[in-house]
Amino acid sequence: MTEEFVPKRVFFEPKALEYPLGKTLVESFRALQIPVTPTSSHNRVTGIPGNNPAQAYREAKGTLVIGVRRSEKFQTCKPSAHYQLPLVTSCPGMCEYCYLATTLGKKPYVRVYVNIEEILEIASKLIGERSPEITYFEGAATSDPIPVERYTGALKKTINYFGRERYGRFRFVTKFTDVDSLLSASHEGHTRFRFSLNCDYVVNRFEHLTPSPEKRIVASGKVLNAGYPLGFIFAPIFRFPGWEAEYQHLLERTAEELTRLAPQGWSSEQLTLEFISHRYTLKAKANIQEIFPNSLLPMVEEDRKFKYGQFGYGKYIYPPEELEELKEFFAEQVKTYFSLAKVEYFI
Ligand code: SF4
Repeated sequence: MTEEFVPKRVFFEPKALEYPLGKTLVESFRALQIPVTPTSSHNRVTGIPGNNPAQAYREAKGTLVIGVRRSEKFQTCKPSAHYQLPLVTSCPGMCEYCYLATTLGKKPYVRVYVNIEEILEIASKLIGERSPEITYFEGAATSDPIPVERYTGALKKTINYFGRERYGRFRFVTKFTDVDSLLSASHEGHTRFRFSLNCDYVVNRFEHLTPSPEKRIVASGKVLNAGYPLGFIFAPIFRFPGWEAEYQHLLERTAEELTRLAPQGWSSEQLTLEFISHRYTLKAKANIQEIFPNSLLPMVEEDRKFKYGQFGYGKYIYPPEELEELKEFFAEQVKTYFSLAKVEYFI
């Protein structure tokens, strides 16, 4: 699949028609001959087919729900930001290790909210409460917001809004590459655009229905060229035969593209990097095996070290010597390709 998400079916809350965006969306999906049906609540949608968990999951990922977000509150988002900024929920991608899989349940249909102005008003209030301290908002805590951007324009509105906000900052992360409409936004350096990257070996096996690493790298070059603060999350990092060469190539190619497209005066000092080695909980493993019965994800407890988690969920991480080797390897790569970048963490 390409990064162009076209839903198989659409549901809408009747209330969404009271907003110009809701009306336009419903009309344009009808014009595309996509089945469009009302639903009483965007939180409880019935009518998504699927006789088993794998099918239900796949069908949900092709379903778009147009709703009105009513909550007056934003969830907190420690430690990366102060608050989540909810513009979209879920994403049409099918990464086997999706970080939303456990929170979104069996039918993670894609939800967009048409009352963007009201959502941004809540952000304004929260910024006001903390000013002159800067308040940070995360736009990808419950979604990948890019695939539906071509329909809603919500991200661009939000980026423009933060461009005008003296005390507010926005950040989000994506694996998608449909970024052209955002290149002209008036971001004023207040939005950090992050890409989630991995090597071909990993993306080809586990990140179904998402763009290739090369496409993501090309998109990141455009974003950098448009003057956005840029970041990369390398996650999840795996060990497999030949991992060193694959990851080395990934960083080398990324550095090459950024050097080609960086605006004058840019230095890797302005780049943030995050590294997350692969880990899993038994709950996530059970989920993954249900949705992807033929998964090749390496999840063998004997090969890992058990680490107690904060909320009673222990994680299986790479054993210390293997983790250390990964850490040293990536530190070396950063030194070679992005010597001044800020490494936020390696876990
Ligand atoms: S792109 Fe991100 S949000 Fe979408 S399925 Fe993959 S991990 Fe989940």
